[in-house]
Amino acid sequence: MRKKKLKAVALFSGGLDSILAIKVLLDQGVEIIAVHFVLPFCAPDMSNDSLMKNSANDIGIDLRIESMGADYLDIVKHPKHGYGTGMNPCIDCKIFMLKRAKEIAEEEEADVVVTGEVLNQRPMSQHRIALNLIEKESGLKDRLLRPLSAKFFPETGAEKEGIIDRNRMLSISGRSRKEQLSLANKMGIETFIPAAGGCVLTDKFFSKKMRDILYYNDNAGIEDIMILTVGRHFRFGENKIIAGRNEKENAALYKMKKPGDYVFELPDDIPGPTVLLQGEKTSEAIEISAALTLRYSDLIQETAEVLYGKDILDQNIRINISVLDHADYYNVSSGCKD
Ligand code: SF4
Repeated sequence: MRKKKLKAVALFSGGLDSILAIKVLLDQGVEIIAVHFVLPFCAPDMSNDSLMKNSANDIGIDLRIESMGADYLDIVKHPKHGYGTGMNPCIDCKIFMLKRAKEIAEEEEADVVVTGEVLNQRPMSQHRIALNLIEKESGLKDRLLRPLSAKFFPETGAEKEGIIDRNRMLSISGRSRKEQLSLANKMGIETFIPAAGGCVLTDKFFSKKMRDILYYNDNAGIEDIMILTVGRHFRFGENKIIAGRNEKENAALYKMKKPGDYVFELPDDIPGPTVLLQGEKTSEAIEISAALTLRYSDLIQETAEVLYGKDILDQNIRINISVLDHADYYNVSSGCKD
């Protein structure tokens, strides 16, 4: 017996495409379970979070937010289908998300899984071959509906059965966003996360830091990746030295420090960075960490006392900034000393 109402699990990023894909189905009376996946090492972005919640609210859907676990990190380390321009394993990432969406669809007895993907919008993961691959490897053959480009693809089971009206599906393709913006205008959709609000894995500097950490530590865990979003990162052989750039980052580094890390600071509340030293605590690593603490502080003198220690700053070193001239270290983002 045919069901009266179709139920769909929809991936929801808060971007315009995912909103439009859902809206097209809501207008056909489809019941939507919208799911937003959070990457495990993304720092919360309050402005995007509230935009996303408001955009869901505006189209009248409840949002389910799920954090991806440590197993997501495995696909970032060893993606079967490779990386994009940064450390973004977009094809594997989508397969990962869709497999989880499929599980939710089974738990909720939903008929289809929906995405806002648009044919040929992104070079790595949205050309036809990639989209077909994603459908196949996610196990959603015939049950993955992409309303914005549906007419370019074979009918899903729900369209064949007539519970989705294929005539109301769309045929948008390419990188231009004109059609989506015009549709948003017609549908009265004003709140969405701008297309440029990207994923940290596509960021050039974050990707450099990610490559560095994976080169030196293939067992890196989520906390090792999370810390890449905070401060300046320096590499000195097997050592990693991280310097906060402001009070917020200094506080974050204190929270993120591991039990063996050394902390460096200037005495007497002199404004400057909190610096973490990870790895073996050789005298040279300690000197470079102390000199970087001085270099990024407000002090203009070339020599100063720097405090350091594991849990409490119970040690000190008098350091001259010229130590940095001869040391073989570099900023992971720039590849040079700054
Ligand atoms: S941009 Fe980031 S979140 Fe989006 S598919 Fe690629 S890796 Fe996944």
